[in-house]
Amino acid sequence: RADSALYTAKAAGRGRAELDAGESSELVRDLAAALAAGEVFVHVQPVVDVASGRMIGVEALARWTHPVLGPVSPERFVALAEQNGLIAALGEHVLRTAVTQLTPLRLAVGGSLGLGINVSGRELCDPAYPQRVTAVLAESGWPASDVVLEVTESLLEAQSSAAVAALQVLRAAGLRVAIDDFGTGYSSLSRLDTLPVDILKFDSSFIATVAESPRRAQMLESIVGMARALGLSVVAEGVETSAQDEVLKRVGCTYAQGYLYGRPAPARELAAPWGRAHAAVAD
Ligand code: C2E
Ligand code: MG
Ligand code: MG
Ligand code: MG
Repeated sequence: RADSALYTAKAAGRGRAELDAGESSELVRDLAAALAAGEVFVHVQPVVDVASGRMIGVEALARWTHPVLGPVSPERFVALAEQNGLIAALGEHVLRTAVTQLTPLRLAVGGSLGLGINVSGRELCDPAYPQRVTAVLAESGWPASDVVLEVTESLLEAQSSAAVAALQVLRAAGLRVAIDDFGTGYSSLSRLDTLPVDILKFDSSFIATVAESPRRAQMLESIVGMARALGLSVVAEGVETSAQDEVLKRVGCTYAQGYLYGRPAPARELAAPWGRAHAAVAD
């Protein structure tokens, strides 16, 4: 279905990121076909409790490998989906795939497993979104209180009343809301008090320097303290070194995610070791 010769010729001379508009429309067509064919996959990455190192949940991350171009970054194909009327289908596919593939693990660990789902702006502002999400959860028996909707700081900065209203509806249905990539935008901590949010996810760019920079570590500690005072949970993203993990323990950052604990991978790869570990604890 992809026009292989055209892609190959055009992609040959330049980086993959520099596709032009014509190639973009081909890519949109291929993405739509891949979605319809179930070729957009979902990887999951563990979210761990920093103190114990145990997994408390996972984040679902969409993956698409184009037959000719190879892996396309989620940033790119999510943006394409948003701009071309495919985001509802993509979002629903990721959610349904995640709950379906993770249900055995959820049951194996006692019925409760956190599930982070990324939501983009246009998706969230679709009036049908809350109903779509709650329908998939009801269908699968996945507890709403185990689902964390991850919205970016910049999405909330736009302060779309539709986005805030949708999040309020979803929170009323029991889901939780995280601000993703926290620390990359300009939202003030005081504004957090007025937003329908439960969790802050510190962006990896913020975590990257905490082990080397005492000032960054101090900043993290202050924000963690403020978040706690506001009743928010905190998750550090992009944790790659044990030195960073040590800082998180010291400043009281409760949860974390990153290559140090586990890379995004298909659910079946996660289920084996984590499922056994949990089963062992439960025995
Ligand atoms: P995000 O939600 O902030 O996801 C975290 C990103 O950090 C993921 O990139 C993950 O693979 C990467 N990561 C995790 N641990 C580490 C680490 O230790 N070091 C480094 N350097 N990176 C780490 P990924 O999978 O490429 O996804 C990029 C973004 O695409 C996500 O950022 C999210 O905003 C978006 N995205 C992914 N899947 C979906 C989806 O299903 N729907 C929507 N709307 N957006 C999605
Ligand atoms: Mg996320
Ligand atoms: Mg993030
Ligand atoms: Mg991100």
